[in-house]
Amino acid sequence: MLKEYFADLHIHTCLSPCADLDLSPREIVERAKKERLTIIAITDHNTAQNVRVVMALGEQRGLKVIPGMEVQTREEIHLLTLFPDWPPTAAWEEEIYRRLPDMRNDPGIFGDQPVVDEEGNILKFEERMLLTSIDLSLEEVKQRVEQHGGLIIPSHFDKGSFSLISQLGLIPQDLELEALEMSRKSPLRKPAGMAEASSSLPRIISSDAHRLEDIGSAYTVFLLGEPSLEELRMAFRGQAGRRIVKRVDGGVIYL
Ligand SMILES: [Zn+2]
Ligand SMILES: [Zn+2]
Repeated sequence: MLKEYFADLHIHTCLSPCADLDLSPREIVERAKKERLTIIAITDHNTAQNVRVVMALGEQRGLKVIPGMEVQTREEIHLLTLFPDWPPTAAWEEEIYRRLPDMRNDPGIFGDQPVVDEEGNILKFEERMLLTSIDLSLEEVKQRVEQHGGLIIPSHFDKGSFSLISQLGLIPQDLELEALEMSRKSPLRKPAGMAEASSSLPRIISSDAHRLEDIGSAYTVFLLGEPSLEELRMAFRGQAGRRIVKRVDGGVIYL
């Protein structure tokens, strides 16, 4: 039987240098539960080191946590890369680390990058510079992520920076994307009841949370058989009744 799932598929943890330090795994899971989300994805910049802890806590609390990363391609495009489970995420992270420039993070300028445990205790600080481009193109990232069984969704695709539109000026048709993530306050968005902007690709909206209070402030409602990446993919493709029901941003519903 299909049911509705409330998904915020773009959440940073304290490991992202630009995110608040109180975004610990437990706080994220508790906030997501409070916001009545049923699926979240953890997407730190070019790393997945805090993902497994959030997955473990999510399992304890009945919250589906999809492992992922927000990757910055050579073209400076941000992409959500999402995976069915942990092993392919780990393999992808290894590949990303090989493709990161050999630069050190300057916490004074960019912020700290703590790897934490379930209680938010700091295990170590990631010293590599995470907030930068990897040496792979958009096309190469898509190809490799799919080889690992994952899928990519261009982040905030219509935003003024680090997006498909800002960097390429268009949505490449030959890339066969599954979906796009709209940025919040997007001019392309129309409230429910008004005509949709033209684009045939399914669109999601997420909080892109960098602060605890952002979590669940924007989310996408899906009709799925169960909370999994495979079911999300089916919803994007409109298979077997799976679909996007609506998108909600700041309490406003967008169909
Ligand atoms: Zn981004
Ligand atoms: Zn982000």
